[in-house]
Amino acid sequence: MQTCDLLIKDGSLLIKYDQLEEHVDMAVSGGRILETGKELWKKYQAVETINGKGKLFMPGLIDSHMHTGQQLLKGLVLDAKPIIWTRIMLPFESTLTPDKMRLCAQAAALEMIKCGTAGFIDAGSYHMETAASVYEESGLRGALSYSTMDEEGLPESIAMDAEEALKRTDSLYDRFHGKGNLKVYYSLRALNSCSSRLVELEAMRARERGTMLQAHMNEYMGEINGIVDREGMRPYEYLEKMHVLGSNFLGAHSLILSEQEKSLVMERGVKTCHCPFSNCGKAVPDTPQLLEMGIPVGLGSDGAAHGGLSLWNEMKIFRSVMNIYHGVPNGNPKVMPAETILKIVLEGGAAALNEEGSLGRLEAGYKADIISINMDQPHLCPTGNKIHTLFECVNAGDVEDMIVGGRILMKNREVLSLDEERIMYESRKYMEENADTF
Ligand SMILES: [Zn+2]
Repeated sequence: MQTCDLLIKDGSLLIKYDQLEEHVDMAVSGGRILETGKELWKKYQAVETINGKGKLFMPGLIDSHMHTGQQLLKGLVLDAKPIIWTRIMLPFESTLTPDKMRLCAQAAALEMIKCGTAGFIDAGSYHMETAASVYEESGLRGALSYSTMDEEGLPESIAMDAEEALKRTDSLYDRFHGKGNLKVYYSLRALNSCSSRLVELEAMRARERGTMLQAHMNEYMGEINGIVDREGMRPYEYLEKMHVLGSNFLGAHSLILSEQEKSLVMERGVKTCHCPFSNCGKAVPDTPQLLEMGIPVGLGSDGAAHGGLSLWNEMKIFRSVMNIYHGVPNGNPKVMPAETILKIVLEGGAAALNEEGSLGRLEAGYKADIISINMDQPHLCPTGNKIHTLFECVNAGDVEDMIVGGRILMKNREVLSLDEERIMYESRKYMEENADTF
């Protein structure tokens, strides 16, 4: 007998986005998947065993773009007058304190674990060291950034010049990059808020340190027009001129792209992601063409203020938008099949986390980030196609177990790495005490 840390017995396994196997076992050791196959219990002696009967195991979902620092704005943005960034988000983030940020991160980590999001990319906020400590404790896999802007007129609490902004990410990187399951990315919050000096510094340092650089890109026309007015060219063209674009660049949203920009994104190996619910009021991306061009696309929630952190919701919204906008006018009902959307979330997400080939599948050698779904419920069973039902009918509350890097973070919906009851109590108390400030 060989030994392993964890053995999952007799489950349905979504090995990758379009490949499902029934009555299969999976052995995990040292944070990675050792093997999947029939009757592995005859071969392995496991420290811990999970009975997989009635459950579907799949790679953990990856949220390619979220905002920890906006977690306590849930419910306060829907139907708000534009521009919500300047009216709601920015004032809220500029008043973050370490205590408030700790609560944001705890509530976000708890929500992600409970809805099956095992990996995430935070777009950057303030007091990120405090958030990083919470995420390290939570066991989630994540990439974190410092919010990086040096424009004039920001609230005093977050105003800084390019050198200071760089220093903040440097120190976050030194403390947390490679700690637990965490990475640190350099960032440009949005090009309109960053001087060319800051763009240059952040890109240089990300390259020096071999990590990713992320930015909000081409999200709405006003933002694009601002760069055209300032630089005489569109956002991706400007970054090309600044020698910023490469496979270590993650362009969040990437909704409104000119043909020239699409070619640049493709040629430079840039990674992208969309946030369907948040994007609905802005623009519809040309995802079918981006995928055809081989551009990596992930899916993000854009933070809890935009309809919560459930990627199950985002996937369904994305499918609806793609069908209405690209499918119906062309008489093509299969413009964005379930398998393609699962591939976007899992493998596009792995690309956004800079983990292509090591995350997003349940294959031998891949990192053991795994969730299970309780399929033995009236809204999921019986089904003639488990992959379609997984995509169409599963919701956050159906996620039973979560394993990240081989560690069990949730078992039968009980979160093991965080104190759910205390976090719920404290975040409710915060909302009650601050209700009149919104
Ligand atoms: Zn965002």
